[in-house]
Amino acid sequence: MDLSTFVRDIPDFPKKGIIFKDITPLLNNPEALSNCLASLVSNSPSKVDKVIGIEARGFFFGTALAEKLQAGFIPVRKKGKLPYDTIEEQYSLEYGEDALEIHQDAIKKGDKVLIHDDVLATGGTAKAVINLVEKLGGEVVQCNFLIELDFLKGRNKLNSPIFSLLNY
Ligand code: AMP
Repeated sequence: MDLSTFVRDIPDFPKKGIIFKDITPLLNNPEALSNCLASLVSNSPSKVDKVIGIEARGFFFGTALAEKLQAGFIPVRKKGKLPYDTIEEQYSLEYGEDALEIHQDAIKKGDKVLIHDDVLATGGTAKAVINLVEKLGGEVVQCNFLIELDFLKGRNKLNSPIFSLLNY
């Protein structure tokens, strides 16, 4: 199944010059949804303790992936959204700057952690999450993405194994 036919390009969203990769057609199609999750699962490492989904589009598949891998799920959220004690990391992305947070008790030392998001663009977001995991003593065993924008060379920022379903 060619999942790329379920990704819609939205030019100039959320600002001029960005071609936004809209995955809602993929989420909307039961066969594509199931095929996408199965591909992520079959390309994941065998031993994973925790899956991190990055707010917000990393939540769509992150929790399902965690369940399939018999791992726990951890939300990493924008600053100020998580209710308990957090640690924070600043980051920059293709269209702005922000900070991400994780609960300080979400990862145990030595946990094998898989980080999931919808799109790898410049890599700033994923790199910030790797830093959060390492600060808490976890080991990043994979970063996986539905889509990687190769021309932005985000993977050069990430010194962890990377898997992407679709490359542009
Ligand atoms: P970056 O930190 O530059 O790798 O940006 C990755 C984050 O921004 C991810 O959470 C994506 O959801 C979002 N993002 C960046 N560029 C795009 C794009 N062209 N289409 C959709 N989402 C994007």
